[in-house]
Formats: sequence, C-alpha cells, structure tokens
Amino acid sequence: MTVHTGRHFLQIPGPTNVPDRVLRAMDMPTLDHRGPEFAELGFAVLAAMQRVFRTRQPVIIYPSSGTGAWEAAMVNTLSPGDKVLMCETGQFAVLWRGIAEKFKLDVDFIPGDWRHGADLAEVERRLVADKQHKIKAVCVVHNETSTGCVTPPLEARKLLDRVKHPALLMVDTISGLGSLVYEHDAWGIDVSVAGSQKGLMLPPGLGFNAVSEKALAVARANQGMRSYWDWQEVIAFNKAGTFPYTPACNLLMGLREAVKMLEEEGLENVFARHKRHSAATRAAIKAWGLETQCVDPNAHSPALTGTRLPDGHDADNFRKIVLEKFDMSLGTGLNKVKGKVFRIGHIGHFNDLMLMGTLAGVEMGLDLAKVPHRGGGVLAAMEVLKGHDAAQAPEAAVA
Ligand SMILES: *Cc1c(COP(=O)(O)O)cnc(C)c1O
Repeated sequence: MTVHTGRHFLQIPGPTNVPDRVLRAMDMPTLDHRGPEFAELGFAVLAAMQRVFRTRQPVIIYPSSGTGAWEAAMVNTLSPGDKVLMCETGQFAVLWRGIAEKFKLDVDFIPGDWRHGADLAEVERRLVADKQHKIKAVCVVHNETSTGCVTPPLEARKLLDRVKHPALLMVDTISGLGSLVYEHDAWGIDVSVAGSQKGLMLPPGLGFNAVSEKALAVARANQGMRSYWDWQEVIAFNKAGTFPYTPACNLLMGLREAVKMLEEEGLENVFARHKRHSAATRAAIKAWGLETQCVDPNAHSPALTGTRLPDGHDADNFRKIVLEKFDMSLGTGLNKVKGKVFRIGHIGHFNDLMLMGTLAGVEMGLDLAKVPHRGGGVLAAMEVLKGHDAAQAPEAAVA
C-alpha cells in the first residue's frame, strides 16, 4: 500500500473540504438539546440560514442528507396524483424525479442533453398549454452537480409570472447555496432545497428547506401523509429555538461557525472567488484541448467543472491514476456520462494554490494516463489567477 504524506486533495464537488475552524467548533461535548444552552445555538443557526438563503421566511433544518430535504419539499406541498414539471439537467434531476415518482406524483420530465441548464423555453410552452393549471410545481436544479451546468432560478420565476401560472417554484440549490448567488425571497422561490456538505463546507448530515408564505399555505392545506418531514411541527418548535426531535447538535455548532466564516469573507466575495476559480479551471481545460461537459458559455458552474475525455479514454481509469499517484480525489462521471466525464470541484473551503495543486495533479494525470492533450493548462490557469478578475476572464461564469 502506498503511504501518502501531507493532506489528501479532496476535489470532488461534495462532500467538500471542512475548514479546521469548523472541525474545532464541532469538537465539543454533547449538548442537552432540551436544555437552556441549546436554544441559543438553535436561534443562531436558524437566523444564520435565513441570511444565507436571503429570506425572512422560516428555514427548516433537518438531520438528513440533501435527499431528505428533496423529499421534504415534495411531501409537504404535494400529494399523489399531483402533476409536476421537472427538467432533465443531469443525474441529480433524474434522482429528484425518482423521489417524485415514488410518491406517485405525475411527473412531466422535459428531456435534456446533460450539457445545458434546464430548457426553460420548453417549461414555458408546457405551462402555457396547461390551461387548467394541473401542474402544481415546477422543479429545477440550480447547480447541476453531475454536469456543471447552471439554471438561473430567477428566469424560471419570471416565466411563471409571465404566463400567470400558479405552480410552486421549487429549486434544488444543494450545491449552489454558499457558492453561487442565491436570493430565496427576491427571486420568488417557493421551496429552496439545500444540504450541508457542498458550499456550506460542513460534513454531510444537514438538509434545508427555505419556504415561501405561499408554500406554507399550500402545506397547511395538504392532507398528504408525512411526519418526520412535516414543516409545521418543526417551525412550531423552532419558535423556542428547539426541534421536535433530536437535532444533529454538533453539526449545528459547525454550521454556526461555517456561516460565520462565509460572512467574514462576505458572501459576495465568496461568490466571486468561486467564479474566478471556475474561469481559471476552464482556461486550463481549453489549453489542454479538452472539452467542458457544459457547452453553454452562459451556464458554466462556478462550483465545479465537468471535463470530458476524448473517446476511447476512460475517465475513471484516469481518476484512479490521479488518486494512486497524487492522492487526489476527483468527481466521477455519473450515470449517462460515466467513464466519459470527470469533475473538478472548486467549491467550498478553497483557495488559489489549492486550485493550482488540483490542476497540476490533473495535468500530470493526463500524461500518465496517456490521454492526448496539450501542455500548458496550469500556466493558462495561472494567468487568470494572476491578474484578471472573473469578469475579464474568458467565458465568465454565470451568477
Ligand atoms: C449532492 C446533491 C444532491 C444529493 O444530496 P445528498 O446529500 O447526497 O442526498 C442533490 N442535488 C444536488 C444538486 C447535489 O449536488
């Protein structure tokens, strides 16, 4: 077995690297979750998450993975037979649809090629055709982590308003929150879904729903079965800073510290940093003569870059070589793009030199795996990092 020294490079787009400060904040004795000290933590994280989601509405925090928060969004607002419009942006859209189908929702799934954001023009056509307003929700994945394509939630809101359709707008921003600009209230999102282990720099284990007044009203009227995920009960307990069941106490301690770090840097700066790293990564990929999975210049994700290998070259074999030689984990291609794509995460707790190390590992790995490419990717990325800001960089990523 090879012994590796120094830190492992975890460059997958989630779970992401956890800052030492956050690890230290969680390294605390267990807290009585019904005792007087807990409420202070409860109130602090609930308020912190309102600031991160940019909402004055309640945020529900679950001890769950992102998948739980997906399920919560659906079981609170929808019941079997309800029609929902979803868009095939990639594997995470496919998985969310799977949940909807298990709950016997009637899913209208707009096909996609996994190289663009959601087909919003088609969403608009289907909403216009839905004269009787049978569609109860439109669901989009903000940052499609399997491909590195972004769908702008505000554009989805604008089109719902334009066609005067009352469907709820649900957005999976599990890998968007804390790395891409997000405005739950200003963008008129009804349910936002997030998780702890991507831009929020925490270990996996917390799921979030931010909700609109309209979504809450729909949930109150919804007779569909649910218990653990029920918003009403959680919100009622949250008024006292507590939770109806045992919360993930130490993860909440980590969350308080992680949001503190995001706010010390300034959310605007956090978003600009992600865009800059994404632009530098694309400069490297272009220099290598490889293709990004995302082909829409306006949809490149600030959080990760899906990278294609030429036909006949297995991306998982390349990833294996990089892991063995350089102790770096890169994201695997999922489902349809397995073996064709690897993903470079530049999300969360990250800086310029970590990006340089990451890209150097990729460039050396391409050589060792005998993938045809040109050299100079690392140098091209350095040029972006040295002077240019994200706005001047080639193909500036979208917000
Ligand atoms: C990670 C991720 C999920 C799934 O979250 P889990 O915590 O693995 O359940 C869903 N959607 C997106 C966009 C993600 O990035």
